[in-house]
Amino acid sequence: MQRHQIGILGATGMVGQRFIQLLEQHPWFEVVWLAASDKSSGKRYGDAVKWKLDTPLPAHIAQMQISPATPESAPKIIFAALDSDIARELEPKFAAAGCAVISNSSAFRMQQDVPLVIPEVNGDHLPLLEKQTWRKQSGGYLVTNPNCSAIGLVLALKPLEERFGLDAIFVSTMQAVSGAGYPGVPSLDILGNVVPYIKSEEEKMQEETLKLLGCLKDDRVQPLEAKISAHCNRVPVEDGHTESVSIKLRKPATREQILAAWQEFRPLAGQNLPTAPAQPIEFIPADDRPQPRLDRMRGHGMAAVVGRLRPCTLFDWKFTVLSHNTIRGAAGAALLNAELLATLGKLEPAAVPA
Ligand code: NAP
Repeated sequence: MQRHQIGILGATGMVGQRFIQLLEQHPWFEVVWLAASDKSSGKRYGDAVKWKLDTPLPAHIAQMQISPATPESAPKIIFAALDSDIARELEPKFAAAGCAVISNSSAFRMQQDVPLVIPEVNGDHLPLLEKQTWRKQSGGYLVTNPNCSAIGLVLALKPLEERFGLDAIFVSTMQAVSGAGYPGVPSLDILGNVVPYIKSEEEKMQEETLKLLGCLKDDRVQPLEAKISAHCNRVPVEDGHTESVSIKLRKPATREQILAAWQEFRPLAGQNLPTAPAQPIEFIPADDRPQPRLDRMRGHGMAAVVGRLRPCTLFDWKFTVLSHNTIRGAAGAALLNAELLATLGKLEPAAVPA
């Protein structure tokens, strides 16, 4: 099978490196183009990157030259891992030039005609992309995946919303330092410490969660009608965001019913998407799990790992959810979106529809 040729914008960053790692030996996609800032452009990737992952930098990628971040030389499928200010400027240029842009940044997630998608949760929002002016004019489009904390939360909530309805959600996060990119949080600020503030993160978690759990109606997403409050904290963990969650349901549910909802949640079963975990929500019964160091790689880093399900004295139920922030929360999420788009025949060629 001929693989789709893809490019990575922001290839030297934390998420860009995860893309390279996850795309090595990907059966459907082949990395042919890498771009980053002007300071990296023109260099060999191996010279420009500070490789931070625990698998070796692939030799053929190390030899590739970093291109300028412009669409002229780029392939038609772009995985974007740019800071949101840069993304706001660059991503539309690629979409306008006819590229399918699969973005990790927050810049356009809440724009009305931009799908914000987790394939297991709301793949049915993807038709929104047909409403984009870029799509109509050049065939290009922009699809986004959520904030790295929203994704684990929403995966755990989706089957509960389907079966029991959600009335109120309270979540407090413990977010890994890799979520801040590289070099990220200064070591003197985070070692032996907790920082109870991550700029704009609480707002993103709240609004993205409701958009993801909303329904597409009359060419727009009607957000879920539920109350939500998020507290976001940075903690001295390398990878893996842990979240304490309390929920109020619209219909009563027993512990067994909640566990069954998580266990039976396999909406992509049979689709054979290479990055999809067989079990998107894994429950661990042990009292002291999930823990980031022990459990973040479940489902190859693509599972939302839940545990500590117990009654809540304020709401109905409370639990802990963990997800890998640069895999399920970023590069893996974008890959899964691209795989779903490929099966829908929307990835390539991104031709102007008749
Ligand atoms: P990062 O480590 O700071 O990397 C940023 C990347 O953008 C680098 O490759 C950098 O290239 C490139 N860049 C900077 N300025 C540029 C410009 N003017 N033109 C082109 N490229 C430019 O950030 P990250 O953690 O990978 O995050 C990337 C995006 O993903 C952000 O929007 C972030 O919010 C989002 N995200 C991150 C996570 C996570 O867990 N880290 C999770 C979900 C979403 P140089 O090396 O040349 O400077």
